[in-house]
Amino acid sequence: MTGAGATVVIGAGMSGLGFANWWRARHPGADVVVLEAEAEPGGYCRTVARDGFVWDYSGHFFHFKDPEIEAWLRARMPGQAVHTVVKRSTIRYAGRDIDFPFQKHIHQLPHDEFLACLVDVFFASRRPAGEAPPRSFGEMLVRRLGQGITDKFLRPYNEKLYATDLDRLDVDAMGRFFPHADVADIIGNMRPRPPGAGAGADGAYNATFTYPAGGAVQYVHALLHDLPAGTVSCGEPVTAIDLAAREVVTPRRRIRFDRVVSSAPLPALARICGVAHDPAVFSSNQVLVYNLGFDRKGPRDVHWMYFPDRSIVFYRVGWYDNILPPAPGAADRMSLYVEIGAPHGHTFDVDALRQRVLDDLRREAIITDHQLVADHHVVLDPAYVHITAASLAETARLKAQLAGHDVHSVGRYGGWTYCSIEDNLIETRALADEIS
Ligand SMILES: Cc1cc2nc3c(=O)[nH]c(=O)nc-3n(C[C@H](O)[C@H](O)[C@H](O)COP(=O)(O)OP(=O)(O)OC[C@H]3O[C@@H](n4cnc5c(N)ncnc54)[C@H](O)[C@@H]3O)c2cc1C
Repeated sequence: MTGAGATVVIGAGMSGLGFANWWRARHPGADVVVLEAEAEPGGYCRTVARDGFVWDYSGHFFHFKDPEIEAWLRARMPGQAVHTVVKRSTIRYAGRDIDFPFQKHIHQLPHDEFLACLVDVFFASRRPAGEAPPRSFGEMLVRRLGQGITDKFLRPYNEKLYATDLDRLDVDAMGRFFPHADVADIIGNMRPRPPGAGAGADGAYNATFTYPAGGAVQYVHALLHDLPAGTVSCGEPVTAIDLAAREVVTPRRRIRFDRVVSSAPLPALARICGVAHDPAVFSSNQVLVYNLGFDRKGPRDVHWMYFPDRSIVFYRVGWYDNILPPAPGAADRMSLYVEIGAPHGHTFDVDALRQRVLDDLRREAIITDHQLVADHHVVLDPAYVHITAASLAETARLKAQLAGHDVHSVGRYGGWTYCSIEDNLIETRALADEIS
């Protein structure tokens, strides 16, 4: 048995490390232990450096809304250059590149397809007053943006990503991350832009983004900066929580807790707490990420590209080499991340899929005679959770029940939600205030 009345944090990702910092700032000298199942901290916000390439577990770019949080992190990243970049993202649609978001750039489609989308979105905007609200994400898309925009981009792209039928998902499944646009936005955006004004100026939530030269893991290092040595214990999974005895169990010890803050996926937390729940409610996709390093540059004017075409295996490709300049003296080479979505439970044939990715990159003229000189892959499972009416209700019920035992479920997977790392920090800061 270790001590009495510890604050036990499960998971050393952004949420767990964020909470450990906020708690210690409010309770100096508090007994806080962060238990992490993996051999190193960071969760999904990790970076791998290989053969001169710097890659994240998947492209992680940052859009801070709260200047206080960004300044707090940057103060703990001494000597780390953080680049601010005006986003250039496009959609590869039938051989041409349309600016993102698709719905605001339909005027870049072939003329007849543009007219079809415009007519559909116009009549979608004139639906009868008093109509019942849409029942699903898929229905919301057609009602707000019309059949054309939905069928050409929103449905095929999002079904490749989520690996599920969009009619299963809650209307608000993407929250603020969905770029809404009405007819006025769409038509207003058809005005010619002044030279040099890219698509990044369209008011999207991520029109600019920041990225540290050392990769996303720099934010994890920032969160480790103030924590006393020994706070984080890696390679120590929590295998059970005894709610009655108020003890956390790991293969090494039992720890009596005053409170637990867990960033483990919510259904896993419910299971280790022995709390009845419906696991079928918590469906999600998994994402296989390939990081690929080539011998020389490829396309230059893009940071990431979306692929709605169902015959292309990936749904998105990003270019690290167009975001960060090469290290001094290093060759300027193409450095890509490539994302493939699949339902949870699917088994990837990683070697066959890598070859398929290379074939599809060639088909889309992203590589020609380029040589692959380094590669890495990782599976994120869960990656995008399926937010449904049932998952929202079960999440709220379980979180409230567990909070009654001073066990708080936080983070992207603890809250079974769609969010950014900044949201993780804002949420855990608010929790530290609330339960202090
Ligand atoms: C494909 C993809 C792209 C993304 N891109 C961006 C982006 O560009 N910008 C951005 O801001 N956000 C992005 N995100 C979101 C971001 O990754 C998450 O918000 C953030 O990493 C979640 O942190 P977390 O601590 O909540 O969860 P996690 O990172 O999942 O951390 C949870 C930790 O808990 C540990 N754990 C689980 N169970 C146990 C247990 N029983 N015992 C001990 N430890 C346990 C895990 O090993 C893990 O380390 C992206 C996410 C995905 C999937």
